[in-house]
Amino acid sequence: MYALNATHSPDLVSWVESANQPETDFPIQNLPYCVFKTPGNPASIGIGIGDQILNLRACGESGLLNPRFASVSKQPTLNQLMALPPTEQSQLRGRIVELLSEGSPDADKIANTALVPQSDVEFLMPCNIGDYSDFYASVYHATNVGSMFRPDNPLLPNYKHIPIGYHGRASSIVVSGTPIRRPVGQLTPTEPGAAPTRDACKLFDYELEVGCLVGQGNQLGESVSIDNAESHMFGLTLLNDWSARDIQKWEYQPLGPFLAKSFASTISPWIVTMEALAPFRCPEFKRDAEDPRPLNYLASDSNSKFGGIDLQLEVYLLTEQMQQQGFKPQLLTRGSFTNLYWTFAQMLTHHSSNGCNLRPGDMLGSGTVSGQTRDSRGCMLELTWDGDQQNALPGSQRTPIKFPTGEERKFLADGDSVIFRGFCETSDHRRIGFGTCMGQVLPASQSN
Ligand code: MN
Repeated sequence: MYALNATHSPDLVSWVESANQPETDFPIQNLPYCVFKTPGNPASIGIGIGDQILNLRACGESGLLNPRFASVSKQPTLNQLMALPPTEQSQLRGRIVELLSEGSPDADKIANTALVPQSDVEFLMPCNIGDYSDFYASVYHATNVGSMFRPDNPLLPNYKHIPIGYHGRASSIVVSGTPIRRPVGQLTPTEPGAAPTRDACKLFDYELEVGCLVGQGNQLGESVSIDNAESHMFGLTLLNDWSARDIQKWEYQPLGPFLAKSFASTISPWIVTMEALAPFRCPEFKRDAEDPRPLNYLASDSNSKFGGIDLQLEVYLLTEQMQQQGFKPQLLTRGSFTNLYWTFAQMLTHHSSNGCNLRPGDMLGSGTVSGQTRDSRGCMLELTWDGDQQNALPGSQRTPIKFPTGEERKFLADGDSVIFRGFCETSDHRRIGFGTCMGQVLPASQSN
């Protein structure tokens, strides 16, 4: 696990003025990675600083990085950089802080050749995500959803012993801003015993999640111990695991979600590194006294004390009408990543515990981040659900969310934009943010 060092000091100031504004997501203490493109230039690795991007490729070409870092900075994706061991990640972060700190002798050179306004770029996928696995780590989400699908038996007996997950689809992960086409599929029969229909999804939903991007991989046949798990984690990003609830309900038994999930997932362009998150580490979830202890391979002293991350998450929705009438996006949910029953270290350890090899750039999804209260529920399935009603999946048995235009939503409508934000904040460190993860819903394709 990364220790606190000089790069976390709240006293650091950058010569990039916008990075010193109190409301910025990207002060010099953050330095999240992205991949971006400007017209006529190749895709480049970048680092967020205030409202600008430091072009890492350009830094390498100007001789500002050592040969090893210059070599990974030329790549059109982050994968090679992500594979560097933590000691080198830390050296690179230290060098970037040097370059961007007030008083840097290279400030003029960088300002002229390696700084791009974020508003001028197209963001690309930050890395090639070879494999994506999605977990189910919020016990409140699992309990709420379990209550809808299995009222008598909400939390299955394995839940508190094993981080539940399934293999997701990597090919359809897109970067923030990419429009999301409403899927068509087999929908749950409306009457018991009736045949399913094939139509556009009617219960279209988002899931508020955090993605953990794998850094160093592990060899096939070798597992990662819980004490080494953090050294295989590169960083975190905001993740929207779009979900077609009516397709899901019909298809998910007995093998789990399939087409209800695989049509698209959206990530933020920014990956906040594990080192940047060091000041915001916290104890793992406090289990009830009667809960089982995790098996030994999922337990360690360091994971208990620092495995959690004090990360605040928000969901906003903007309908097309709201946009036209000049309304701002409406806050639907405010949640905390501390509500997760399992830490990312436990998920990664469990994932590799059968000898499955994880590779640089692979992504682990946390599962929907939901808390105990209604306003911290991380998807519409839960937000508009009245907990006292059984079998609350059909649209008619739900309490809609109201918007200033007079519109109501039980699930997402065409034209709706879903926006996630995330930030870490404590009194003795600089606040750092995750940027935004946004997607707008397009109508289902007619050709289907
Ligand atoms: Mn999910």
